[in-house]
Amino acid sequence: MKVGILALQGAFREHAEAFDALGADVALVKRPEHLAGLDAIAIPGGESTTIDKLLDSSELREPLHARLQDGLPAFLTCAGVILCAREIVDGRPDQQTLGVLDVSVRRNGYGRQRESFEAPLTVRDLPGAPFEGVFIRAPVIERVGKNVDVLAEYDGHAVFGRAGACWFATFHPELAGDLRLHQCFLTEVD
Ligand code: GLN
Repeated sequence: MKVGILALQGAFREHAEAFDALGADVALVKRPEHLAGLDAIAIPGGESTTIDKLLDSSELREPLHARLQDGLPAFLTCAGVILCAREIVDGRPDQQTLGVLDVSVRRNGYGRQRESFEAPLTVRDLPGAPFEGVFIRAPVIERVGKNVDVLAEYDGHAVFGRAGACWFATFHPELAGDLRLHQCFLTEVD
């Protein structure tokens, strides 16, 4: 299984290490030609406004959007959720979105960097201990579409779930030292 990691900015190395440790064939995606042959893609956390601009300069916006629309399984984390949300609240005025995930997210919804936090999350159907959610200037999901299956909540808001082939986490599973959510994604798309 070939998993691409959008590698324009942000926590892409940690995702690459996680998927590599689980035996996936990992490819960093920096140019349109790197989308060829992918079975899935991860869009990492980072700075969504920066990644948004880099989608244009790398010429990835159109072909990435087309692959996602086509049903390419995607693992979206933090800024990745913002980049793919149907609607961004409190985004930068010129910030665009790929719009493939039917949620509304409020950027930096928990406050500034110093309001970053960790919290144990109960994830539906995940065996074992709660999953440690690492929230770094995370977005808050304020609305989910009816096709979104919410698998974990924090403080009354969806923080982990899926809509078809699109999985999302508003926290950073790749920084938790726990590969269970990456494994769930791989098992489902395999
Ligand atoms: N606050 C960041 C943004 O708006 C997202 C933070 C993250 O990905 N950890 O892009």
